[in-house]
Amino acid sequence: MTATPNHTPQDTRHDAQHQERQQQGNTQHQEQSKVQGAEQDTAQNPARRPAPGAAVDYDIAICGAGPAGMALAALLAKRGVAPGRIVLVDAKTLEQASRDPRTLALSHGSRQILEQVGAWPLACTEIHQIHVSRRGQFGRSLIDRSEHHVPALGYVTRYGDIVTALGAVCQRAGIAALRPARVLGCVEQAGHVELRLAGDEPGADADGAGRPLRAAIVVQAEGGLFDEQESRSQRHDYQQTALIAEVRSSAPIPQRAYERFTEQGPLALLPQDGGYSLVWCARPDTARELLALDDAAFLAALGQAFGGRLGQFTHVTPRLGFPLGLNAGERGSARTVAVGNAAQTLHPVAGQGLNLGLRDVSVLARLLAQGATPAMLGQFNGLRRQDRALTVRLTDTMARVFANDSPLQALLGLSLAAIDVVGPARGLLAELMLYGRR
Ligand SMILES: Cc1cc2nc3c(=O)[nH]c(=O)nc-3n(C[C@H](O)[C@H](O)[C@H](O)COP(=O)(O)OP(=O)(O)OC[C@H]3O[C@@H](n4cnc5c(N)ncnc54)[C@H](O)[C@@H]3O)c2cc1C
Repeated sequence: MTATPNHTPQDTRHDAQHQERQQQGNTQHQEQSKVQGAEQDTAQNPARRPAPGAAVDYDIAICGAGPAGMALAALLAKRGVAPGRIVLVDAKTLEQASRDPRTLALSHGSRQILEQVGAWPLACTEIHQIHVSRRGQFGRSLIDRSEHHVPALGYVTRYGDIVTALGAVCQRAGIAALRPARVLGCVEQAGHVELRLAGDEPGADADGAGRPLRAAIVVQAEGGLFDEQESRSQRHDYQQTALIAEVRSSAPIPQRAYERFTEQGPLALLPQDGGYSLVWCARPDTARELLALDDAAFLAALGQAFGGRLGQFTHVTPRLGFPLGLNAGERGSARTVAVGNAAQTLHPVAGQGLNLGLRDVSVLARLLAQGATPAMLGQFNGLRRQDRALTVRLTDTMARVFANDSPLQALLGLSLAAIDVVGPARGLLAELMLYGRR
């Protein structure tokens, strides 16, 4: 979504793609859910229908109540912004969002942000060590939490648990949430931004749009996945699909995560509930073949790619594929600003996307609590430039250089097996870990 007239954000094609993913992975939850919790509460909220002629309906409208958007709303309230001046708008109900099947590794810094707003503790598994290896090479390396002086290198959590906890925090704080309500576009005007919403708003016009909502500042937190997004200035399709599932093995090692570089992309196993959450990145054609395998054949293929250090893989849940790319670049205008995946979508190697997004919202909340003004948005972009650029560069380097079809390796006439991947990858991972502490 950009602040231009008649702009249509991620359209129905993307809805269909996402729904398809959701359905594949969640056959047990196919019924259309009821609107519950925060959205039920706020649908009755009189702040939703402000007096005609009021200059703005809200000081801050947050488009997208994913983890980044809701964390921002909660931090703003915590920092003293009147909850009645904040509105969250999301195309999905909280219940629908809570069914997202992703597992996310959160950094120590992200845990601290969630703690600040009361959305922690969450159900999670601590990572104490990360084992880095390369398929076809003997080298391996272990990163240990003691090197970084943190209680854990990361916390393995479920997307659904994060949004459920943040949804409850926002509801308790009395923050209005319009959901399900899709933002169709926004138009910046002198002194405010008008958002066009679709949904069941009374007075919807011919194309289904409801009455515009006016806010002094609009935060774009509508995130989404690489293949659903408009192009930004830094865009690269890695030609990889991340295949996710939960797996079990016969000899798990508690609290140890694995990052293994293969010819086609990284394969990560994150410890979770006695088993592992798998993120296996492979070329799209291979990923399609892997998705089509039955459980036994899939477990055998995984064993071949990962090796035997966790014994035999014994169980796997339904698999899902996510196309991967980098899509980043500063966006926004005088009165609009982007955070989280709406600002930068990364390759999931090293699990940095939401961690970076939470650092965005932590800084933005501090600034907007001083005043919901264009000047604060200007400061925000300046303050976030370095961290964003470094995180993009490190994850992009890992995703590109350590895949066998990297043009750099072709240029140098190298095959991945011939270069030391483990040492540099360990260094980059450790650097990201240190960044994640903040
Ligand atoms: C396979 C995989 C593994 C990952 N692993 C990790 C990890 O280990 N650690 C980590 O930190 N990150 C990880 N990530 C990245 C992480 O999932 C994202 O960075 C994070 O979800 C971004 O949060 P967000 O709130 O910005 O956006 P989203 O989670 O995409 O939420 C956006 C919200 O906006 C709503 N929305 C969209 N369009 C509209 C509209 N027009 N109107 C109204 N609402 C709208 C959506 O319904 C949604 O609720 C991973 C990603 C993938 C794909």
